[in-house]
Amino acid sequence: MIQINNVSKTYKGKKGTVTAVQNVSLNIEAGEIFGMIGYSGAGKSTLLRMLNGLESPTSGEVIINGQSISKCSSSQLRKARQKIGMIFQHFNLLWSRTVLENILFPLEIAKVSKKESINRAKELIKLVGLEGRENAYPSELSGGQKQRVGIARALANNPDVLLCDEATSALDPETTDSILSLLTNINKQLGITIILITHEMHVIQKICQRVAVMENGNVVEEGHVVDVFTRP
Ligand code: ADP
Ligand code: ADP
Repeated sequence: MIQINNVSKTYKGKKGTVTAVQNVSLNIEAGEIFGMIGYSGAGKSTLLRMLNGLESPTSGEVIINGQSISKCSSSQLRKARQKIGMIFQHFNLLWSRTVLENILFPLEIAKVSKKESINRAKELIKLVGLEGRENAYPSELSGGQKQRVGIARALANNPDVLLCDEATSALDPETTDSILSLLTNINKQLGITIILITHEMHVIQKICQRVAVMENGNVVEEGHVVDVFTRP
């Protein structure tokens, strides 16, 4: 479903060039929960951002459902992005808008009718367990609740893929577990492919089937979680 073909990304800066991702190739199957783990600076976020076109590869190509994300027009990219949801470590909510309004935002951008949008948002609020909190502002919510809003917003346009960028790194262990359970349910119930990046092994062990280990821009190991983490 997602093919990452020999992708590299270099940044040019004042101190010379930095190779953030180097010759990475991965295939991610529809419906799986795939993890990418590595220390800070390993290239995980850069790779994740190339999956939804927030960054474009210096070389190589990302193909999602047969369509190249790296070599398409901006209108094709905009359309493709609606099928790729993303959640973040610090939630990236709109602080001046309520829970309901945050979830309506991507539907407004996609020009979905008001009535349909509200129905959809209410469905999502139920799915993520935030009933009764529709009119709360993000500042009134706990970290776990904020991430639930982030998840509902990411699912608004019925994406095929959900990208998770250190989605539980700002949460305590108990809340982390509840968010990971929610993500597992979403994967099972809705069949959405999930790709997550993290520096925490227990996150991978809790929900991923396969994992890629990144170091200095390279994938140094890849396989089923049990195999990768139990090898001597
Ligand atoms: P990770 O997500 O694993 O922490 P990143 O993808 O954020 O890794 O970073 C990989 C490398 O690329 C790091 O050396 C980082 O400093 C560099 N890098 C990331 N984004 C940029 C950027 N926009 N400009 C310059 N260098 C960057
Ligand atoms: P917007 O206009 O996008 O709805 P704001 O202008 O209120 O949002 O906030 C802009 C940014 O400031 C937010 O994306 C967030 O990073 C930060 N911010 C605002 N309020 C808070 C808050 N209560 N807690 C943490 N960050 C905040």
